[in-house]
Amino acid sequence: MNSRTILVVEDNLTSQYILKQLLAKFGYRAQIASSAEEALASAAYTRYDAVLMDLMLPGMDGIECAKRMREMDKHKDVYTPIIALTAMMDQREACIKAGMDDYLNKPYDIKDLRKMLLRWVFDPFHPNLNVLKEQLS
Ligand SMILES: [Mg+2]
Repeated sequence: MNSRTILVVEDNLTSQYILKQLLAKFGYRAQIASSAEEALASAAYTRYDAVLMDLMLPGMDGIECAKRMREMDKHKDVYTPIIALTAMMDQREACIKAGMDDYLNKPYDIKDLRKMLLRWVFDPFHPNLNVLKEQLS
């Protein structure tokens, strides 16, 4: 069990519930934000190890939210990976342009979500050696 905390920006209650269960199963803590505005308010005061970002949100969308998070990062000495999690197709380029790091389409394979988090969330107590090897090669 590690104590890495993932901010889940997701407005759909069922998706929130599923992600919460999955992240707990993977050993992460999940903090849920139901809107971009809520996510930005949380990110201003809390350091998260990664953000899972839905794109279609009420009010501000996930792309704009990611852009603003990157603006906020400029004033911090940490970098928070942002991973888009969306049912929308063909948004990869827009996500990367907005400063997001990776992209996973819904419905996603649980294994792919697990791999994605291992790739982006570094856990010094349980380092994933395969990912480290990949990064060093
Ligand atoms: Mg949504």
